[in-house]
Amino acid sequence: MTFNELGLRAELLRAVSESGYSQPSPIQSKAIPVVLQGGDLLAGAQTGTGKTAGFALPLLQRLSEKPAQKSRPIRALVLTPTRELAAQVEASFRLYGKHLPLRTTVVFGGVSIRPQITTLRQGVDILVATPGRLLDHVSQKTIDLSKVEMLVLDEADRMLDMGFLRDIRKILALLPIQRQNLLFSATFSDEIKRLADGLLKSPTLIEV
Ligand code: AMP
Repeated sequence: MTFNELGLRAELLRAVSESGYSQPSPIQSKAIPVVLQGGDLLAGAQTGTGKTAGFALPLLQRLSEKPAQKSRPIRALVLTPTRELAAQVEASFRLYGKHLPLRTTVVFGGVSIRPQITTLRQGVDILVATPGRLLDHVSQKTIDLSKVEMLVLDEADRMLDMGFLRDIRKILALLPIQRQNLLFSATFSDEIKRLADGLLKSPTLIEV
């Protein structure tokens, strides 16, 4: 399997080859076609498997297929448990999306909210966030989630371990019903299964 055969557009293939990747990892070979087709995904994957590109590449492609609206609403939301992971995921979106006219930013707690608000005001297509700070923005009305088309829960098991279930449920309630959902988790407890059952529509299950 090559990246070419996965159906990714030229701008993404160029970014992938500039990143030095010669072939897709197993999770990427399995996840990318599912996401490109618009389906929901339940993926069992540890860090280090290349899961980030597994969701970032097809997400960038799907967003790039529709022209950006003037108002530039947030169209994709990626939730992560920690600020370190949020920053890494944002860097990956910027890297893989560098030849596409899509904007990504990140919000997480423990730092001043002001610069985040300034960046958000300029309009972003893809938002990477930790749950608590995201809800702070929502309550200050500096983030509107009503146009989100794609949702990714990254390291969902760690988010639950860190006590984010209530926040996640609050965030889900703010999203449009019609959307594509991707859930990545290293482990599958009953709690994760319940979350996945409520969230995902006829998901494709992949494990690596
Ligand atoms: P992740 O599991 O998403 O945190 O990715 C782990 C590491 O693998 C990151 O440093 C990526 O840059 C790298 N990586 C992702 N996909 C590939 C690939 N297809 N070939 C080589 N390295 C990759």
